[in-house]
Amino acid sequence: MTTRRKLIAGNWKMNGLKADGLALASDLAGRLNGAGATAFDLLICPPFPLLFPVADAIAGSALALGGQDCAAKTSGAHTGDVAPAMLTDAGCRYVILGHSERRADHGEGDALIAAKAAAAHAQGLIAIICVGETESQRDAGQANAVVSGQLAGSIPTGATAANTVIAYEPVWAIGTGKTATPEDVRAVHAHIRAELEGKIVDAGAAKILYGGSVKPSNAAELMAVENVDGALVGGASLKADDFWAIATSCR
Ligand code: PEP
Repeated sequence: MTTRRKLIAGNWKMNGLKADGLALASDLAGRLNGAGATAFDLLICPPFPLLFPVADAIAGSALALGGQDCAAKTSGAHTGDVAPAMLTDAGCRYVILGHSERRADHGEGDALIAAKAAAAHAQGLIAIICVGETESQRDAGQANAVVSGQLAGSIPTGATAANTVIAYEPVWAIGTGKTATPEDVRAVHAHIRAELEGKIVDAGAAKILYGGSVKPSNAAELMAVENVDGALVGGASLKADDFWAIATSCR
């Protein structure tokens, strides 16, 4: 059986100013340094302006840094965008792409997400590509079909288990307090695992994260589900105690 090390990723979204971010990041880096060997890798994805100061604050720790988005272009006249090289320059190893909030708020579609992921890969970043159905799509029995379409459209050529992580985030569970049941999660993750064959090199080793109202009280149960290789955490990643409790629930 393939063993995949768990990845616990914190998506801070548009929350926190410099002092908050530095305090949170330093706290987590300190916990990680003191923990010795862990069953998980820990990642934080702060807002762009916090990347450089947070990178300084966590230097020398195993806490990884990521961006919440990047451009598909490498540089130039693209006001407001952030190039993949700017993320690596700031110390990032990861970038979240295709989060449902970007799909909804910025109209991002699969082709753009695939282009962004290809640009991220070219810069040596690990792309965390998010997929997930809305509540009405789930109610209509379309969850697997929606996820299949998103995977087919947003995973670029050249994706490997080393440079790509998939995050399954049912839209109806993000920030709502509603969590998918372990059985829902098991079924969709098994579907995603099968769908990755032929789309990602070494697909059996690719991580599939679950995201959607993960919290300390449900983390152990969700992280124990087959083919759940970690979590993408929003709200609960803003509190060091909660985020750490989620991470340490991994066995
Ligand atoms: C997310 O934004 O990726 C997320 C899963 O948020 P929350 O944990 O708050 O539902």
